[in-house]
Amino acid sequence: MTRHADVVIAGGGIMGSAIAYFLGADPDFHGSILVAERDPSYATCATALSWGGIRQQFSTPENIRMSLYAAAFLRTAGEALAVAGAAPDLAFREQGYLFLASESGRPVLESNLRLQLSLGAEVQLLDPGALQSRFPWLNIEGIAAGAFGPRNEGWIDPSALMHGFARKARALGAEYLRDEVTGIDTAQGQVTGIRLASGGAVKCGTLVNAAGPQAGALAALAGVELPIRPRKRTSFVFDCRESLPPLPLTIDPSGVAVRPEGSQHIAIVSPPEDRDPDSADLEPDRDLFEESIWPVLAKRIPAFGAVKVTGAWAGHYDYNTFDQNAILGPHPKFGNFLFCNGFSGHGIQQSPAAGRALAELIVHGEYRALDLSAFAFSRIAAGRELKELNVV
Ligand SMILES: Cc1cc2nc3c(=O)[nH]c(=O)nc-3n(C[C@H](O)[C@H](O)[C@H](O)COP(=O)(O)OP(=O)(O)OC[C@H]3O[C@@H](n4cnc5c(N)ncnc54)[C@H](O)[C@@H]3O)c2cc1C
Repeated sequence: MTRHADVVIAGGGIMGSAIAYFLGADPDFHGSILVAERDPSYATCATALSWGGIRQQFSTPENIRMSLYAAAFLRTAGEALAVAGAAPDLAFREQGYLFLASESGRPVLESNLRLQLSLGAEVQLLDPGALQSRFPWLNIEGIAAGAFGPRNEGWIDPSALMHGFARKARALGAEYLRDEVTGIDTAQGQVTGIRLASGGAVKCGTLVNAAGPQAGALAALAGVELPIRPRKRTSFVFDCRESLPPLPLTIDPSGVAVRPEGSQHIAIVSPPEDRDPDSADLEPDRDLFEESIWPVLAKRIPAFGAVKVTGAWAGHYDYNTFDQNAILGPHPKFGNFLFCNGFSGHGIQQSPAAGRALAELIVHGEYRALDLSAFAFSRIAAGRELKELNVV
């Protein structure tokens, strides 16, 4: 059976659901929305396996603006996303991010900070003495400076925000269909519809790629090369004997990151580019803790000298191999095939701004709240990188 929807969104994770919500909430949108999601348990999607971090500390103006937009959105999200008086609990812990820099990394930290402040971010530059008195649990050996954001930074429950968007989108009229998009039909430079694993088909006016780490595979169904690949990231959960005050999300110059999670802590590190293959499985890389993470943690935070790993999980980054930044908006050839992909480890915090931006493109044909045209697909063909230096 072939049916029709004005907007089909392929993937109902945080991006697909944010777009569905902002579309449904736009008083100028009068069409139908169909979200095709292959796995409504969301067991393996990037959103459910994410850390949910939000930070202003980026090197690209657009990324800083998107996070500031998210911080403002989160403060009123309960009201905006409430359904029948029930508001989602997003568990926003505004405990800050602390980026640490060695002498060689200090100029970049300082220039990022100047940019962040100029855009209205609240970030403080701390010298080693200030770091030590503010964070006495830190070993400042080899540290030349730190940048700490006391406001607009921390972490949320990413699944709560995704389900909050999805519930509200449904309440506003979006339909969620449990099915996998297995084919995309095109004719004369337009997408005309999708084919589904169940055997069904849907004709559409607009198709949005919100397939997260599988975005490259989805784009290939229309013959489009999209440089997004699933890249595995393993998170470790550990107990520490000593009790510590609430830590900010702390990033060592080596790239090892750690933050509290309930009464425990979690840690992660991204492998170097040449040891970061595309990944199809979600088996944790267990050796990483002993090899790369614990030696750094034990040195940087001496209380972590004695810890016990209690768990590990792996998730896939929706990794943009071109420049580690989002790809947003229409394909240069298929004008009604829109992309909302490639967030490379920062998609949770970008979901409010990206969701709203894609809805604006669909309804108004232009960006309104934030100009995100720098993320256009066309930059890839032009070889114009929008490089983000602060990828954690
Ligand atoms: C370990 C880890 C830590 C992270 N930490 C952070 C962080 O601290 N802060 C931050 O901002 N971001 C973080 N991220 C990144 C963030 O989680 C992602 O950028 C974001 O979740 C992407 O959302 P999405 O909706 O695009 O993808 P997903 O959540 O993966 O959703 C895509 C959906 O599409 C569905 N799908 C795929 N193909 C098809 C198809 N053909 N048909 C139908 N459905 C399909 C999938 O089933 C899935 O549900 C982290 C990611 C990981 C893995």
